[in-house]
Amino acid sequence: MSHIAYVNGRYLPQKQAFVHIEDRGYQFADGVYEVICIWNGVPADYQGHLVRLNRSLSELKMRAPMSDGALTSVIQEVIRRNRIVKGTVYIQINRGVAPRLHNFPGASVKPSIVVTAKHGAGPPESVAEAGVKLITQPDQRWGRCDIKSVGLLPNVLAKQAAYEAKAFEALLHRPDGTVTEASASNAWLVTPDKVIVTHPLSNAILGGVTRATVIKIARAAGYKVQERAFTLDETKKAKEVFLTGTTTFVMPVVQIDERQVANGAPGTIALDLRQRYRAFLDDLTETAWDA
Ligand code: PLP
Repeated sequence: MSHIAYVNGRYLPQKQAFVHIEDRGYQFADGVYEVICIWNGVPADYQGHLVRLNRSLSELKMRAPMSDGALTSVIQEVIRRNRIVKGTVYIQINRGVAPRLHNFPGASVKPSIVVTAKHGAGPPESVAEAGVKLITQPDQRWGRCDIKSVGLLPNVLAKQAAYEAKAFEALLHRPDGTVTEASASNAWLVTPDKVIVTHPLSNAILGGVTRATVIKIARAAGYKVQERAFTLDETKKAKEVFLTGTTTFVMPVVQIDERQVANGAPGTIALDLRQRYRAFLDDLTETAWDA
């Protein structure tokens, strides 16, 4: 079955779906995106993704190409046409097509939008059961990591370094040793006295939609959660380390560079949160679309 993409008002087989060579997303990475997990045909944290998408647009002074309601109809149609039951939806909105000049084009230039979908959600269960390895990399990104911009080159380079080291992800750190997040997921640790810690919301991290849900799930389960900065040193001495993200769910970390985390087995709290997150997904119903 060929994949169907939505491109600026049309549903097309992906092979026939193109964007203009003067699209500003292509020339300047002048665009934003979202990746949404579809579980049993319905979206996880849909409201959180819409809020973040609209925030990213507004921070970049970009207008939305359509209302939230119209976007929901497009996403539902892309899911239907691609027969997605468990998968991901990708939405990208660029500032539009205009002759190449750095400053914004005039108000008559319409933003461009692409929506695609893929089968398969979350990493295989066996990966989470074994736990994953991370490498550490300097965080070389810009000062607005809170915007989900398609300008992802530092993330790409960090992820490639992880791939070459046969690691799952790259843990990003600032020159002062602060861990911000990973290249495509949020980073967490559990202290020796069982407090769950993750970097506070700021311009230094992407406010993960999964991060917000896992904070809620953890607190509801009686865990103590702190949103505060932590260092690489603290991470290496942690009782547990884990990652969260739309395509990662909750992923236990068992090794960072050449050093194992605690006893080298996935942490019990991370596994518990992973199971609770899976239960949250399993409990989603059609009301998950309500924005
Ligand atoms: N941090 C970065 C840099 C990301 O790219 C992502 C997801 O792509 C995340 C965190 C996790 O965010 P979310 O849970 O919304 O997928």
